[in-house]
Amino acid sequence: MENKKKRIIACPVCGKTVVYENNPYRPFCSRGCKGVDFIRWSDESYKIAKDGHENDNGVQNNGE
Ligand SMILES: [Zn+2]
Repeated sequence: MENKKKRIIACPVCGKTVVYENNPYRPFCSRGCKGVDFIRWSDESYKIAKDGHENDNGVQNNGE
């Protein structure tokens, strides 16, 4: 009956609600938010990749 109802999702970056279908940037609301998330992700993996290697500034970060 309501199978054709569009799926609404909330953008994980800004929280704006967008229609999932026909959205090239899903699950984001726009290209801008998709870019933000990608930058966050790549920054995180960059830190992980660097961690456990040599520390340039000599600061030890053991989490706790
Ligand atoms: Zn957004």
